Amino acid sequence: MVLLPQEFKNRMKDMLREEYGAFLAEYEKPHFRGIRLNPLKCGESVLRRALPFPVEPAPFSPLSFYLPGGTEKIGLLPMHHAGAFYSQEPSASGAVTVLAPRPGDTVLDLCAAPGGKSTQIASLLGGRGLLWSNEVVRGRASVLLSNLERCGAANAVVSSCHPEVLCGALAGFFDKVLVDAPCSGEGMFRRDEKAVTEWSTAHVQACAVRQLAILESAAQALKENGILVYSTCTFSPGENEGVVRGFLTRHPDFELLDSGVSFGRPAALPQARRIYPMDGGEGHFIARLRRNSQNRAFPAPYAVPKPAKPDLAQELCGRLYRRPVSRPVQQLGGSLLLLPENLPELRNLGVIRAGILLGEMKTNRVEPAHAAFMAAKPDELNSVVSFSHDSPEIAAFLRGEEIAVPVSLKGYTGVAVDGVMTGFGKCSGGRLKNHYPKGLRSH
Ligand code: SAM
Repeated sequence: MVLLPQEFKNRMKDMLREEYGAFLAEYEKPHFRGIRLNPLKCGESVLRRALPFPVEPAPFSPLSFYLPGGTEKIGLLPMHHAGAFYSQEPSASGAVTVLAPRPGDTVLDLCAAPGGKSTQIASLLGGRGLLWSNEVVRGRASVLLSNLERCGAANAVVSSCHPEVLCGALAGFFDKVLVDAPCSGEGMFRRDEKAVTEWSTAHVQACAVRQLAILESAAQALKENGILVYSTCTFSPGENEGVVRGFLTRHPDFELLDSGVSFGRPAALPQARRIYPMDGGEGHFIARLRRNSQNRAFPAPYAVPKPAKPDLAQELCGRLYRRPVSRPVQQLGGSLLLLPENLPELRNLGVIRAGILLGEMKTNRVEPAHAAFMAAKPDELNSVVSFSHDSPEIAAFLRGEEIAVPVSLKGYTGVAVDGVMTGFGKCSGGRLKNHYPKGLRSH
């Protein structure tokens, strides 16, 4: 049983009245757990066949499912290595459902690490348009990049930049912006003891000040008619309805829209949604706003520098892919990147990665990168070997071992699990030399 702070309990009692008893009773139950299917990698039936447990649909997104109790170590499953699913409490997928990214949109996820919502946005963009994922804390931005790579996002930029600097430079560029704000985390109380011990009314107030400042930046980044979704995982009205009201007072050119979803329940601002544990989720607030004013600002396009050794880039693409690559390739130091189309100016924005890392240049050759295979479909690659999710070969591959393959396979070859790309190796004489990154291997 979680030991809830008394001030928190008093406030929740005032807010929930006759439902307060039901709310408290939830804290005697285990928290909800879930996974989200990544359609960039496979369909639901392929994933279901590979999972060693059944999953139940959740109301917060068509991609989201509840895990049964007692499932452990799902991060070790081959389909997790392959990015076919992301581990996410189901109600956390609700904010992106409200944001509703469509293929071709330009989307900014301003507070993005570790990447639950960014990977969901990437799934819904389906490889078209642009996802800009930003995380101000540099160490957390690396985890974000790793998660986006695993999920095969090819049209993403990952940066670690202060929102004010980023949104100033990219003013007017985005169709949709998500602010999944740092908050007091009251909705995490069942899952994370630290959220309980760090909670105080002073912290709640400090979070609200910070949230307004982040929204102030986010507003700049939007085009006219652009959509801003503000979400938190806390119950406090000061950080939720209070922040939205404060923002609207300062921005009469923004309008609070109906969230357009039926999960959870109306918030005190009835267009917005709240999710309580009684609604099947841990605790969230989601508001959708539209910028009704013009934004005359727009960043300059990124002028892609010509690769110093274009032949090497061409040769690598020819070796890996069946069809010619149409996206621009950039050489950055010793790295070759396959960039998304129509990038805005990238410089001085803490960009860690734009597009996918294709390979690293060695003396007179290029070694392909793991990310190049993760973002590919098997039928786009010249050479692929696929193993079943329960085969000894895939378990050995994910541990970093050399494995036996058909002797006909030669050179760099993608490795798939049930037809979903999960890495690569180099084949010769019926053996595949393992290139699965050391930091990702299972032990
Ligand atoms: N959207 C993420 C996901 O779904 O995985 C979770 C984001 S978490 C709720 C909020 C993030 O905001 C944290 O990663 C935190 O480091 C970041 N953050 C902290 N202070 C910030 C600030 N002043 N501006 C922007 N982001 C901040």
